Amino acid sequence: MKRRTFVKAIPLGLAGATFSLNFPSLIAAVAGEKHTDWSYDDPESWGYLSQDYQVCSLGNQQSPIDLQSPISSELQPIEIVYQDIPLKLLNNSHTIQVNSNSDNYIIIDGEKFDLLQFHFHHPSEHTVTGKTYPMEVHFVHKNKEGSLAVLGVFLQEGQENAILKSIWEAMPSHKSEEKLIEGVKISLAQLLPNDQTMYRYFGSLTTPPCSEIVHWIVFQNPLEISSTQIHKFKQIFPLNARPIQPLNRRFLLSYSE
Ligand SMILES: [Zn+2]
Repeated sequence: MKRRTFVKAIPLGLAGATFSLNFPSLIAAVAGEKHTDWSYDDPESWGYLSQDYQVCSLGNQQSPIDLQSPISSELQPIEIVYQDIPLKLLNNSHTIQVNSNSDNYIIIDGEKFDLLQFHFHHPSEHTVTGKTYPMEVHFVHKNKEGSLAVLGVFLQEGQENAILKSIWEAMPSHKSEEKLIEGVKISLAQLLPNDQTMYRYFGSLTTPPCSEIVHWIVFQNPLEISSTQIHKFKQIFPLNARPIQPLNRRFLLSYSE
């Protein structure tokens, strides 16, 4: 079993870290239970679709944000322990999601967050001083209290991405149940940039119920994906990115090795 461990630094302290205003609906969302349907056609309406989604409109720690003018920080180490996983994926009608039930986790301030799944957005949700990337990957982790930590990785146009190739070959073009692709392993560690310069801030889910329970860690340096690969995803999801939200009274921190 291949296993790579990264020891990285992240900011101390989570300014304004508050727990969910609508925690039951988050649990329902994570558990895949029924909830009010929503779409990317009108993200401004999400907060009015259901009482459970109110924080999408009323929250003041929403994601994504434009990553600009970060405060450079001396940070505590983050440990990322990722290994190869069997490929289990689905189309949940909002994105392609790859599930993890192996022992993959990150440790932030001594707290363990287990990897639940990763998924894709086209174009990127976060922007960097106004710049949008063609795609963004989100690795979603949860601790035992139900708080989330999401690692974000930008994808820019360039060489074909060999790791994504096996996911793209298997991805369902319509809504589907999870399926296991026999004999295919995904090397998670290779889906993270070698350069570990990161942004960090506290925010929310970028889909309803928009719960403000997410420690966001976004890698500054992108990975590459070919234009053909971008095009294939775009044919399934022409746009699955929430618009930029205001930073309000939050700190955006950065860390560089
Ligand atoms: Zn996402």
